[in-house]
Amino acid sequence: MSGVNPNAKSYNVLPGPVMGVVTADYLENLARVIRKHQIPLVKLTSAQRFAIAGHAPEALAEIWRDLGRTEAPAKPVGIHYIQACPGVQWCKFGRQDSLALGEKLGAALLALPLPAKTKVGISGCPMNCCECYVRDLGIYGKKNGWTLVFGGNGGGVPRLADVIAEGLADDEVIALAERCLRYFAANARNMERTGRLMRRTDLAAFKAAVL
Ligand code: SF4
Repeated sequence: MSGVNPNAKSYNVLPGPVMGVVTADYLENLARVIRKHQIPLVKLTSAQRFAIAGHAPEALAEIWRDLGRTEAPAKPVGIHYIQACPGVQWCKFGRQDSLALGEKLGAALLALPLPAKTKVGISGCPMNCCECYVRDLGIYGKKNGWTLVFGGNGGGVPRLADVIAEGLADDEVIALAERCLRYFAANARNMERTGRLMRRTDLAAFKAAVL
């Protein structure tokens, strides 16, 4: 794709799609905006969203308008994103409905203020395509319900999340996720990710506080 301003180093993550689910309308509108503004790089991020890069910075307000927004999306104060796999409805290995849980979890917890970027992965079975063990909050399905893991990180100092509880129903796993995040909010230092918090936290004490 040829670009307007390849040296601009602009990089913006687009609003939506939520959990990587797109519609024909979304894609058609996005394609129209890409062509109109000659955006040189369009990329799927690891968070199952689209990023656009390399456009002229001064074109940004019009790009947001063309995408149906009056202004750039605000940076989230808590959960950065929720990834979810297709789950039991769409994948033959699925044990639980990860997309449906992702919607419920988002409705319940996206507005919760948190001390640092918080990534959530939800997988429909233990194959864990959404990499729950390296997410701040991970939830994956088994035949008997959801397993919740907490404190994972896939960054420069990786950490596998700790299993907090298993065999949970939808409402139970959302309630437990909220208690884990509230513990995080109350005990983490400013900008401290869950992995660092859990490194200096006794797991038994954490479980006693949230279970
Ligand atoms: S985690 Fe399981 S249900 Fe989800 S996409 Fe992977 S194999 Fe399918």
